[in-house]
Formats: sequence, C-alpha cells, structure tokens
Amino acid sequence: MTDQRTAVVTGASTGIGRAIAKSLTEAGWRVFGSVRKEADAASLQSELGERFTPLIFDVTDNDAIRRGADIVREALNGRTLNGLVNNAGIAVAGPLRHIPLEELERQLNVNLFGVMRVTQAFLPMLGADKTYRGAPGRIINMSSVAGKIASPIMGPYSMSKHALEALSDSLRRELMMHGIDVVVIGPGAVKTPIWDKADDIDAEKYKDTEYYDVLIGMREKYKTVGQEGLPPEDIGALARDILTGRKTGTRYAVLRNKFMMWTLPRLMPKRMLDRVIARRFGFPEKAR
Ligand code: NAD
Repeated sequence: MTDQRTAVVTGASTGIGRAIAKSLTEAGWRVFGSVRKEADAASLQSELGERFTPLIFDVTDNDAIRRGADIVREALNGRTLNGLVNNAGIAVAGPLRHIPLEELERQLNVNLFGVMRVTQAFLPMLGADKTYRGAPGRIINMSSVAGKIASPIMGPYSMSKHALEALSDSLRRELMMHGIDVVVIGPGAVKTPIWDKADDIDAEKYKDTEYYDVLIGMREKYKTVGQEGLPPEDIGALARDILTGRKTGTRYAVLRNKFMMWTLPRLMPKRMLDRVIARRFGFPEKAR
C-alpha cells in the first residue's frame, strides 16, 4: 500500500466533491474527504469503502482544518500528499448596492479564505517541506465560469471566484520552486445540489428595491439551469486526469455550449457583453 497515491478533497459530501472522491477512489487513490456532518461521513464511507477517510472540518475553522491535517500527516508517514482539491464552496447572491456586507464576508470567508486556510495547512505535505519523501503534489482549485465572467446579482460569488483565479495564478508561480502545480477547473453549470439552494435566496429582503423582479426571475431560472448542467462525474474524471498528470494545462473551462457561453463572451467588447448579459438577466439596459 505504500505506493498508493493520496489526495485531500474538500466539500466531499455532495456534488462535484463527492464525484471527485469517487473517481479517485475508483482509480485506486486513497482519499481524505472533508465533510461537516457525521452523517455525511458515514454515507461516504459506506459508498466509497476503505480507500476513503472522512475529515470533519468547516473551511472557516482553522483549528478543525489543522486537526484534519494532523490525521493526513500521520497517515502519509513521511510521504508527500499527491493531490489537494479545494472544492468546498457556496454561492451567495444579491445586488451589490444593497447586500449586507456580512453576506459578502461569508462568501469570501468560505470560497477564498477557506481555500487559503486549507492550502496553507496542507502545503508542507504537498512537498513545500523538503523532509517529505516523494514527488511533489498538485493542487486543483474549483473556480467557475464566474471566475472570469462576472454576472450581476451573482456579484459576491463572481468576486470570490475571480479572486480565486488570482490566488491560483500567484500560487502556481510561487510554488514552481517546489515543483507543486496549481490548476484551475472552471465549470459552467453542473447538476449538483448547489442549484437547489437558489431557493434559499432571500429575495424578500430586496422587495423594496429596483432588483426585486430580476432576483425572483433569476431564482426561478436557476432551478432549470442546474437541471441542464453537466453531470458531476465529468468533473470527477477531469480532476483525476489532472492529478495523475494526464492533463497538463493550467485552467480547464468545462461547459456545455462552450462557444456561446465562454469563448464568444470572452472575445466580445465589454460593453457589448454588458448588453447581452442585461438581456439574459432581464435587466433594463438604459437609465430610466
Ligand atoms: P454542492 O453544494 O453540492 O457542494 C458544495 C460542498 O462544499 C458541499 O460538500 C458542502 O458541504 C461544502 N461546503 C460548503 N460550505 C462549506 C464550509 N464552510 N466548510 C466546508 N465545506 C463546505 O455544490 P457543487 O456544485 O458540488 O460545488 C462544488 C464547487 O464547485 C464549489 O466551489 C462551486 O462554486 C463550484 N462550481 C459549481 C458549479 C455548479 O454548477 N454546480 C459550477 C461552477 C463551479
């Protein structure tokens, strides 16, 4: 078992993280997956078997992350960690004019500072500490199309993923000296429970604002967008190929209708894209 490759995947309880954990364990990897509830730990353990070990931590809780890192360090017994997948994330929505700043803080605390906390805790094991034996590991950061194309109403989420892209590029360049690679996956819609949480958007809070109608429309639309998303298994397979070195790019945009939803918007002049996005979201385009 000493040659078995080992990875840590955050947010493994559902969706993309669960699919990545499954894809890796099926390929023979040992996977430590972070969850926040004992029930999720038990369910994953029974589905994925002995190659899977749950770690219980919230990515906003530094002490709990450190305890998780201690467990992994002990299991590695001096060998390097081969992969870290920073996948845990939430999507906070609301118009930037009105959103309470605590909600923006919560978004950044999970999607950005959470990645920082986890990365700092595991970097020594990935090979930044030269006392570990074996090849340096790879980091995958789960961004989104929103990491490059910012949407209205999804400002907090878009900000968190744009910052994650910068974090990833800076980190990759800093870690070249250690041979630790950093790769971004930027999916479009993937069919996971994150879309069901659209129901949690508290539109009533914005009832007396100019964004209420747009928010309600968006909340409804998101339910179908999620249903039409890619299967999470596609991202699971891609993450496995990145961690095994079969894919050597620095960023993977994975989405349906890629030309219209990714390639073209990124080529368009920004004011043209503003109008396209306004129409898509049902925003008035001109000052009223
Ligand atoms: P999901 O809601 O099914 O999974 C999110 C995971 O993160 C869950 O396991 C959840 O428990 C965990 N998590 C949330 N807050 C946490 C916290 N504070 N501490 C620890 N874990 C926490 O959603 P998903 O779609 O599988 O999302 C996974 C990642 O993929 C996210 O970073 C998301 O932004 C990104 N993403 C998703 C889509 C999509 O369409 N589903 C598209 C692009 C990017």
